[in-house]
Amino acid sequence: MPDIAKVAVNDATIHFDKLYSYTVSPELAGSVWPGSLVLVPFGRSNKPRMAVVIETGTQPEADPRLKPLLAAAPEEARLTPDLMELVRFLKDRTFCTWYEAVKAVIPYGAQYCPGTENGHPVVKNRLARPVETVYTLVAPLPEKPRPGAKQRQAAQLLQDGPRTRSELEELGISRATLEGLCKKGVLRSEERYKSLDLFAAIPFDPQPVQLSAEQQSAYDTLERQLVADGPQAALLFGVTGSGKTAVFLKLIEKTLLLGRRALVLVPEISLTPQMIRRLKAMFGSRLAVQHSALNNTERLLQWRMIQQGNADIVVGTRSAIFAPLQNIGLIILDEEQEHTYQSESAPRYSAHEVAKKRAGMENALLLFASATPRTETYQAAQSGRIQLVTLTQRYGGRPLPRVDFVDMRAELASGNSREISARLVRELAANLHNGEQSILLLNRRGYRTVGMCGICGHVLKCPNCSVPLVYHKAQQMLLCHHCGHRVSPVPTVCPECGGKLVYSGFGTQKVEEELRELLPQARVLRMDQDSTGQKHAHETMLAQFARGEYDILLGTQMVAKGLDFEKVTLVGVLGIDSLLFGQGFRSYENVFSLVTQVVGRCGRAELPGRALIQTAVVEHPVLKLAAAQDYPAFFAQEIAFRRFSLYPPFCSFCVAGFTGPSEPDVYAAALRFSRLLAERFAKHPDQPLRVLGPTPMNIAMLGGKYRYKLTLKCRNDATFRALVRSALEAYAEEKLPAKAGIALDFNSDGDL
Ligand code: ADP
Ligand code: ZN
Repeated sequence: MPDIAKVAVNDATIHFDKLYSYTVSPELAGSVWPGSLVLVPFGRSNKPRMAVVIETGTQPEADPRLKPLLAAAPEEARLTPDLMELVRFLKDRTFCTWYEAVKAVIPYGAQYCPGTENGHPVVKNRLARPVETVYTLVAPLPEKPRPGAKQRQAAQLLQDGPRTRSELEELGISRATLEGLCKKGVLRSEERYKSLDLFAAIPFDPQPVQLSAEQQSAYDTLERQLVADGPQAALLFGVTGSGKTAVFLKLIEKTLLLGRRALVLVPEISLTPQMIRRLKAMFGSRLAVQHSALNNTERLLQWRMIQQGNADIVVGTRSAIFAPLQNIGLIILDEEQEHTYQSESAPRYSAHEVAKKRAGMENALLLFASATPRTETYQAAQSGRIQLVTLTQRYGGRPLPRVDFVDMRAELASGNSREISARLVRELAANLHNGEQSILLLNRRGYRTVGMCGICGHVLKCPNCSVPLVYHKAQQMLLCHHCGHRVSPVPTVCPECGGKLVYSGFGTQKVEEELRELLPQARVLRMDQDSTGQKHAHETMLAQFARGEYDILLGTQMVAKGLDFEKVTLVGVLGIDSLLFGQGFRSYENVFSLVTQVVGRCGRAELPGRALIQTAVVEHPVLKLAAAQDYPAFFAQEIAFRRFSLYPPFCSFCVAGFTGPSEPDVYAAALRFSRLLAERFAKHPDQPLRVLGPTPMNIAMLGGKYRYKLTLKCRNDATFRALVRSALEAYAEEKLPAKAGIALDFNSDGDL
């Protein structure tokens, strides 16, 4: 009975993402299982292609039409049954292909690609497993011929034990010197697999965590859930500075005591070095990390460490939800409202959904935490679907910051045309005088954000994207923040009519310049995408600020979240109004969260904090609630709006995006897909669905491609997904993807 394997291939479109059968030769029979990565001859040309085995079995009789598998990756590359279940889940929920899901659940370095060896097709590691050379002293250094100074130094350094080549090179010993000593028989060299302790510098220094009374009672509730049978879920809703992290640490400790493991997700690793520091200090070397700031090698080594069972705690960003950790007892999503938990390319999953799935598979406690939860999450907690645990006070009984508004219309009327109000300058000066630090938030980078002709009103836009070009003074150029298109020198006259161009709107560079003029003695640190391009730039800058090397930290949203600096007593919020009038249905929620979070950065230790919000709409209800840091009141208003206008959690919201080079084709394709949906749903009158559009997306052109969308308000259940899948297949069958690519996104708040 010949063995066969059913596989799904890499680079499939949804149309041919089916299972294909191959025979398994006797040589490969021992290494092909569901979850194995294999190489198959594919298509008419039999070109080798990577694939994943979905099923294996035997056939009563050989089928001569079936081709044999070409090769299989080693056992360690095989996806575990858990990961395969997540692959199925992603395929079902996000409409991605099998192999897209495979690539999402294992890191790049653990993937394989087609290669050849002696003319035969083989699978190749994406990354060669990194090795390093280690030198050991094996004989005394002979005095004849007289050794050189470097040789002596090398022998000296190796007296205390072996060292790697890179360590020795850093100490000034060249490779040539080392090889010379090997030839003399003084040193022995060996190749060894690299191991990696990413946080060797952080000392293991476990301190007992002493919870406050309020933290303790939150912990007690959560502990009951942690030890309970079956999957559990909770929201830890705690005001900024209430000490949610202390509760996490205790829960992780308990999880480990129970013999189980913990997975901690954070929105952005570079902004939460404090979390890693605390976990590492408390739990030591059985901590692994998974995030995109690691290079591929680092990431693979950490992944293998988890896979081999050598990590009890994994901390990481979105994709860490796929960490091959076994026996998970606790999954934490810190700052659960952050949009970074949603993937913006295929598979377009949300870490919330996957976490829910995994907690279910593992009977784990899933804990969401935030001072400003998503409306959906808080509603689930209020309605009792998940446990609500609240921390109402800051740790140590410290007050929340006092928040005032500065009316920027009045400011302009009184003759101040700067972006920084007179009041904010006074407060900054006072902080400077008292040796205290300040944080300023402005969520736009660059110098001027729009260039417009004063005569004809023409706006300078990117030729590839329908967005204005931003003037970057430091680099003396105009820059498209979407595709990176550059224009320099910076034009001064209108390309349409020759009129004079006026640059307006302001970004972080402009405010930095004003600060230098207004407060020349202040040490200003600007933190935005332009200033943090280099590796570790975030950590370095935050460490400098923590050490008091700067007085003012000015930046985009990267300064708003998670930071905990005791000397910060003033927060200024600039240019927030444009976000209030953003287009997605989450824009109020986002503004409320951003303002509350950044205000929460001050007054976290001994010194009380205060915040100033500069706005032209001082009466805006969302700003007022954010200033009061009154989440429950905001929620009451938001949930009413969501119910009235039919938005999540009262329906599922799905955007179908269509993109392509020809606008009429893209529009026609979107229209056609909406018909394909309508035909199918007409036969299921009980299945609720509202389709809006096609309409152009908010950014109607991006990177030279036109963009249209359909907005679907629906009930995302199995029937819905089956009907959509059938429509997608019909869309592919009509060869429409060649004219307009299609993507479905359940996490969008209006656009892709
Ligand atoms: P949150 O994440 O809720 O905004 P943090 O966890 O950053 O708050 O805690 C705020 C501050 O209070 C931190 O400086 C933290 O070290 C301190 N803190 C909170 N709880 C405790 C505790 N139980 N013992 C000692 N310090 C604590
Ligand atoms: Zn562009």
